[in-house]
Amino acid sequence: MSPLSASSATGPGAEVTFRTARAEAEARDRADPLGHFRQRFLLSEGTVNFDGNSLGSMPRAVAERMECVLKQEWADGLIRSWGGAEWFRLPEIVGDRIAPLVGAGPGEIVVGDSTSVNLFKCMAAALAMRPERRVLVVQADNFPTDNYIAQGLAGLAPGLTLRVAETGQALLDAIDSSVAAVVLSHVHYRTAAIEDMEAVNRVAGAAGALTVWDLSHSTGAVAVDLRGSGADFAVGCTYKYLNGGPGAPAFCWVAARHLAEVRQPLSGWMGHQAPFAFDFDYRPAEGIRRFVCGTPQILSLSALDESLKLWSEVDLPALFRKSRELTSFFMSLVEQTCAEYGLELLSPSDPARRGSHVILRGSNGLPVMRVLAAEGVIGDFRAPDGMRFGFAPLYIRFADVVRAVEALHLILATRAWDREEFNQTTVVT
Ligand SMILES: *Cc1c(COP(=O)(O)O)cnc(C)c1O
Repeated sequence: MSPLSASSATGPGAEVTFRTARAEAEARDRADPLGHFRQRFLLSEGTVNFDGNSLGSMPRAVAERMECVLKQEWADGLIRSWGGAEWFRLPEIVGDRIAPLVGAGPGEIVVGDSTSVNLFKCMAAALAMRPERRVLVVQADNFPTDNYIAQGLAGLAPGLTLRVAETGQALLDAIDSSVAAVVLSHVHYRTAAIEDMEAVNRVAGAAGALTVWDLSHSTGAVAVDLRGSGADFAVGCTYKYLNGGPGAPAFCWVAARHLAEVRQPLSGWMGHQAPFAFDFDYRPAEGIRRFVCGTPQILSLSALDESLKLWSEVDLPALFRKSRELTSFFMSLVEQTCAEYGLELLSPSDPARRGSHVILRGSNGLPVMRVLAAEGVIGDFRAPDGMRFGFAPLYIRFADVVRAVEALHLILATRAWDREEFNQTTVVT
C-alpha cells in the first residue's frame, strides 16, 4: 500500500505552485539538448534515481557488452583475451576515456582498485616525494574514507601528523612548509560545495606541498581542470555520475611532471615494467601504469568502459549547465513549498559553487527518505540529519524534480514518515 493517502494535505498555494512548475518543467524537458540521453539508460519504471551521485543508473549498452565479455572473451577466449580482447591494457584504455572529463591528457589516468585504495597509493606517493616533511593536511568533514586511509597511513609512517582543517580559508591557512600533502574533496559529499581547486593548488605549490584531490562527486557533474589548475594527484569513483555499476573500479591521476619520479607502495606485478619477465626485483612501469597493482577487475572494467563510451557524445558545458539548472529548480521549489516544515538548504545557493546534488537538513530525515523511496523517489540520508538528492543530468528530467518535491511536500504535510516501518535501524542508509 502506498504510504501517501489520496486525500492529500496539499494546500491550495502549493497546488498552484506545483501546477506552474509542472508546465515549466515540461517546456524545459522538451527544449533540453541532453534529453535524448535518457533513452540510453535502462530505468526502472516508476522509479526516479535521485542517487546517481551514489550509484548511477545502468546504460543499456552495458548488458550487451557484458554478454560479450562473459561468453566470447571469457568463456571462449580464456587467457587469450588478455591480449586479444585488450584486457591487459583496459586500465589505461578506460583511463583515457575519463581524462577529458577531468582536464587530464591521454596516458595520465589508470583505472583499478577502489577510491580508498587509490587514496592510499597517492598519499603514500606524495609523502615519499617530500621525505623531509611529516604533515598531511586533511579536511575535517571530508568523506570518511579519505581520513580513515590517512589515519591508516599515519600508523605506518613514523612521525607522520595529520593536521585537521575545516574547509575554506582555514584549510589554506593550515598549509605551510612542514606540509607534505593536502588531501581534500573537490565537491563536498554532503553540502555539494565546490572547493577552489586552483587556489588550493596555488597555495600548496607555493609552500612546496602536494595536493591529492578526491573527485568522486565531481567527475561527470562539474567542470574539473586538473592540468590547468596545477593539481598533483587525483582519484575518483566511477560508479557515481559515470554509471560504471556497483563497485566499479576507481581512477587515479598523477600530474605528468611527476610521473618519472613518483613511486607508489602497492608495487604489485601488474604495475611492473615487464610483468611477464617474472623478475625478482620490482621495477615500476613507465608512466601512470605503475599505479596499477594486481590483476585488473576485467568484468567491472568492461562495464565501465561501455558506460564511458556514451560520454564522448556529451556536450560537457551543456551537461554542467543542466546540472546547475536542475539543482536550482529543485532548491527553489523546496523553498516555495516546504518552508513551513523547518527544512534548511545546506547546499550553496550560488550555482557556480555547487555540485550536482543538494542536501536538506530537517528532522526525521531518515524516515522521510524511506517514504520517498517507497514512492519511487530514491535519494539518500547522510547522518546526522541530511536528506540528499543527486541530479544526474543524463537521465534526470525537470519533470522528475517536480515529482520529487511534490512527494516530499506531501510526506511532510501528512506526516507519512511517522510510522514504525519507516523508523527501523539498518546498516546502510
Ligand atoms: C563515494 C566516495 C568514496 C568511496 O570510496 P570507495 O573506496 O569507492 O568506497 C570516496 N571518497 C569520496 C569523496 C566519495 O564521495
